[in-house]
Amino acid sequence: MSNDKLDFIRADMAALRESNLLITLRTMDSPADAWMVVDGRRVLNFCTNNYLGLANHPRLKAAAIAAVEQWGVGPAAVRSIAGTQALHVELERRLAEFKHVEDALYLQSGFLANQAAIGPLVGKEDVIFSDRLNHASIIDGARLSGAKIVVYEHCDVADAEAKIREHLPNYRRGLLITDGVFSMDGDIAPLDKLSAVAEQYGVLTMVDDAHGEGVLGRGGRGIVDHFGLHGVFDLEIGTLSKAFGVVGGVIAGKRAIVDYLRQKARPFLFSSAVTPADTAACLAAVDLLEESEALVARLWENARYFKAGMQQLGFDTGRSETPIVPVMLGDAGLAKEFSRRLFEAGVFAMALGFPTVPRGLARIRVMNTAAHTQADLDQGLAIFAQVGRDLGVIQ
Ligand SMILES: *Cc1c(COP(=O)(O)O)cnc(C)c1O
Repeated sequence: MSNDKLDFIRADMAALRESNLLITLRTMDSPADAWMVVDGRRVLNFCTNNYLGLANHPRLKAAAIAAVEQWGVGPAAVRSIAGTQALHVELERRLAEFKHVEDALYLQSGFLANQAAIGPLVGKEDVIFSDRLNHASIIDGARLSGAKIVVYEHCDVADAEAKIREHLPNYRRGLLITDGVFSMDGDIAPLDKLSAVAEQYGVLTMVDDAHGEGVLGRGGRGIVDHFGLHGVFDLEIGTLSKAFGVVGGVIAGKRAIVDYLRQKARPFLFSSAVTPADTAACLAAVDLLEESEALVARLWENARYFKAGMQQLGFDTGRSETPIVPVMLGDAGLAKEFSRRLFEAGVFAMALGFPTVPRGLARIRVMNTAAHTQADLDQGLAIFAQVGRDLGVIQ
């Protein structure tokens, strides 16, 4: 018997390597944009969630720099003690206005926003109804709450209803949680139908709209706006680290709930507030989105163009309804090799395998953005075509 305490790590790492599931970190040598320098090489970028091209936008940068001058670099406190700066209050007011909700709470990340929201709403006597493909941060938040977790089949409203009928009577309260846009497939939850079912049984509703914030709805107002469920849906979780280009999470919805979370949410009470620079940059992003819908329109034009081009080439783009375009390949080794060859040819698009996606459903995921030009997309399509033919994925 080995007496090395770290043998289990070596064994697991070897297993990951053998099954092509070892994650290798690439290093970015430039800001997030349509073109980036990655591991020293200039490539066309299809990997970031920079949907609207705001991550390196001059107005956001100027706002961040000005905020550092005025407010310093850190709040040095949690929100509930001395960390709530006027910038946070202003951002929350503006986000609530933008999203047409009663109130909003700004936190350190979307990941933490899920943990912040779920725990106070349900506990051991309660039940959570969760879509099979929900994001890891929802799953972790649900587990931490101690509530019973009942998984319903992906986007299956009838199954969600059957599960509610079966389990709800055994518990004090129910909470239905779904991703808005599913980040690995780019499909959209049937929020109107899920909401109707939840309302019928008096179940609380929560959607994680990380990939819909700044993307779906009028001018990027999110999935609740997309389905016209204002005032009906209880809670929307969002992130300011994707389309908004900065960092942070948002919990938006009914005032009674958001106010309650200010009393109870543990990441709000026990982890320091977001920096002034980030908060001010988020405010500038809200300004831009309220001034014009052009960036959101551009994003969707690009996404439609790219997806149609990929489908014409014969690629399987799964069930995408959004700017997220999965290129379904199946085998994790093939996906890795595909990504490696794309990179050699000047396109940065990551391969995703288990546990990010189910086993056997490995893929390349293309993230379209408003920052890409038509020439960029044409170049990307040509390189995908070449690699696809070389690897026998398309004819
Ligand atoms: C990215 C993502 C998150 C995490 O958001 P961060 O702000 O990056 O922490 C949460 N939920 C979903 C569905 C996501 O796609």
